Amino acid sequence: MKTWKDNVRSVVPYVPGEQPDDPDMIKLNTNENPYPPSPMVEQTLKDMRTDTFRLYPDPTAHRLVKAIADYHGLRETEVFVGVGSDDVLAMAFMTFFNGSDPILFPDITYSFYDVWAELLRIPYEKIPLNGEFDIVAGDYKKVNGGIVFPNPNAPTGAELSLESVREIIESNRESVVVVDEAYVDFGAETALPLIREYDNVLVVRTFSKSRSMAGLRIGYACGNEEMIRCLNDVKYSFNSYTMDATVLELGEASIKDETYFRETIGKITETREWTQAQLARLGFSFKDSKANFVFAAHESCPASELFARLREEHIYVRYFNKPRISNHLRITIGTPEEMRKLIEFLEHYLAERKEKGEA
Ligand code: PMP
Repeated sequence: MKTWKDNVRSVVPYVPGEQPDDPDMIKLNTNENPYPPSPMVEQTLKDMRTDTFRLYPDPTAHRLVKAIADYHGLRETEVFVGVGSDDVLAMAFMTFFNGSDPILFPDITYSFYDVWAELLRIPYEKIPLNGEFDIVAGDYKKVNGGIVFPNPNAPTGAELSLESVREIIESNRESVVVVDEAYVDFGAETALPLIREYDNVLVVRTFSKSRSMAGLRIGYACGNEEMIRCLNDVKYSFNSYTMDATVLELGEASIKDETYFRETIGKITETREWTQAQLARLGFSFKDSKANFVFAAHESCPASELFARLREEHIYVRYFNKPRISNHLRITIGTPEEMRKLIEFLEHYLAERKEKGEA
């Protein structure tokens, strides 16, 4: 017998990192920023007039788009905004990856890409990172319906040089290349200058990491005018009011506070370098991270064991039980105090384990 279930779109959803309800936790599992957003965001929120909430928000998000465009020295017509970069990426998949050839992305990468591809029935092929966990530009020279990768890559934290990004774009002039720069502010080189040079590159950014606004959901894409128009056509065919009225103002306030932004990034990168040195001392190996996390494997202690023990200590990190990376932990960079507690615990635990002869 036929049922409505025959017509359901079957999907295997993306699993976001946990948001535990634990007041004593050290939360290093979802690459959030440990510092609050700019004080200008708080002030703007306090000054907000709730009587305007009866009105629909500006569907063009003009003021936020202008603030982002001014910040990057672009035209407003070169910027598209959405509800976090997840929304922007989903729109990009829907807009540009509409062909019959497979889209390409790394085998070890942001685990939402294959979920969107499955949801939207886009054929795809995963291109393995090399043995060093690097993206190899030369591997992206095959027939495809589009390309997407993060730079720095997630969860490895490794940067792909601008020269290699350019090589991928150059050798795929008939496809759209989406460079997901969710973590670029923490030290990698941006592909933004390439959007004026090539008509097939889209750079996607977020306010969730470097701007401490994951809870507000702001992402954007920069690309040539025609690409942005195509994205907007799809957006307006789906949901005209993706950005709410509060977020439009708060995003604008954040982008105007460059001093605070630089300060926060400085603190995080400094803590990252300290954490990397400590992890190396304790026998962990990892790629040099240009993001706000480190992806590390220990020489003798399995990641699954460390993950479970850390959790008991109310220290949450991310563990992916997947091929090639099941012995790694992705550790978000928190405050110096949080990282000191993490390192102290690891030091203690690994020493104890060694004494027991388990190492
Ligand atoms: N891209 C990458 C590589 C990410 O790790 C994330 C965070 N989960 C995102 C995009 C999405 O971030 P957001 O939707 O918060 O902008």
